[in-house]
Amino acid sequence: MRKPILIANWKMNGSLHSNQALLVRMLSKLRPFRKTMDMAICPPFPYLFQVRDLLGYTGIALGAQNTSRASSGAHTGEVSATMLQEMGCRYVLVGHSERRALYHESDRDVAARFRLVCSANMAPVLCVGETLEEREQGQTMAVIERQLRAVIGETGMAGLVGSIIAYEPVWAIGTGRTATPERVSETHRAIRQFLESCQAGVGESIRIVYGGSVKAGNAADLFQSPEVDGGLIGGASLQADEFSAIGAAL
Ligand code: PEP
Repeated sequence: MRKPILIANWKMNGSLHSNQALLVRMLSKLRPFRKTMDMAICPPFPYLFQVRDLLGYTGIALGAQNTSRASSGAHTGEVSATMLQEMGCRYVLVGHSERRALYHESDRDVAARFRLVCSANMAPVLCVGETLEEREQGQTMAVIERQLRAVIGETGMAGLVGSIIAYEPVWAIGTGRTATPERVSETHRAIRQFLESCQAGVGESIRIVYGGSVKAGNAADLFQSPEVDGGLIGGASLQADEFSAIGAAL
């Protein structure tokens, strides 16, 4: 049985003041779901300390939005996986489409980050998904398999055990457009089948969440399939009412 998980990606938003107000409101609204699902908040790096303190003993985990592909040393401006682990992070997003597209992170870069997150005893949340053009060319699974193979090449199947996959069609992120629930379900099933073909047991046990313009109004539809183990939520995680309503739909 896979435990559902809801992950908030705040992206580059927030301030000390607004984070405090958002979390205080969010924590009380999320209280009813704490036992039935895992939850994590991924704020920008400077706010990790603040969010960690506000989450306290709520059972809601701290996550980060990215990490360096180097383990330490002369990499000005980078943050290592071991530093994130020391700050109390349990999850780290790797390969978010904004990182791949805007900061040119290649499959190999993403795989290196994935390995370092595993080595630091945190769970990587590996974001995979196709662009609109790739989708229109019927390339969805070819793209996702390529993204997964890069990681498998770096860590073997052992790295995937305990990790989370976020299926995020690039054209659905922050656009207000979502994949249909049927399409999401089919893609999650295809990802499981691919992983099962690599090693029996991994595809069925791994948690695969959906991300891309999830809101209170579409969450129940998107989460209805047993293939969908939760959500990676961007914009809607910045509003306590919206995010908790998404939790209620899971
Ligand atoms: C995301 O940032 O991973 C995401 C899914 O964003 P949004 O929910 O805003 O589409």
